[in-house]
Amino acid sequence: MDVQRPTGLNPEQSLRERGLRATRPRVAVLAALRDLGAHRSAEEVRVRVAERGEPLPRSSVYGVLDALVVAGLVMTADAGPGVVLYELGDRWHHHFVCRVCHGVTDVECVTGAKPCLTPGTDVGTVDEAQVIFRGVCTACASGARA
Ligand SMILES: [Zn+2]
Ligand SMILES: [Zn+2]
Repeated sequence: MDVQRPTGLNPEQSLRERGLRATRPRVAVLAALRDLGAHRSAEEVRVRVAERGEPLPRSSVYGVLDALVVAGLVMTADAGPGVVLYELGDRWHHHFVCRVCHGVTDVECVTGAKPCLTPGTDVGTVDEAQVIFRGVCTACASGARA
C-alpha cells in the first residue's frame, strides 16, 4: 500500500507552476521519485514507472529527468564515477557520499539559498553551487572499529 506523505508533491500542480505541460511521462517520473524517496538512479525510476503501469523506454526516462532537472523540479546527486542519482528538488541541499558503502546522505545547506558559495575567480554569473562531501559515514566508521 502506498503511504502518501502529508507534504507529498502533486506532480501535475508542480509542473504547471513551472510553466510546463503536465505530460504523462513527466507526471509518471515525478510520481515515481516521490514514491521512492531518497536518491535514485534513472534505472530505479524506470522500474518504478513501469510498476505504476505506465512503462517508458529508458531513453524517455533520461530525457524527462534531464528536462525536470533544468526546470528545477528534480535535482541530481553525484555519488561517484558514472553514477548520477536523482531526487525531488523541493529543498536545496548538499550531499555527503561515503567512500565505503557509497551511501548518499543529505547535508543541509547552511545558507539555504542559491548560490551558497561564490567561486574565487570571475567565471561569470553563478546561480547555484552544490557541494559533495566525501568521507566515511558514521555506520561504516563504527563498523570498522568493531
Ligand atoms: Zn558508509
Ligand atoms: Zn539529497
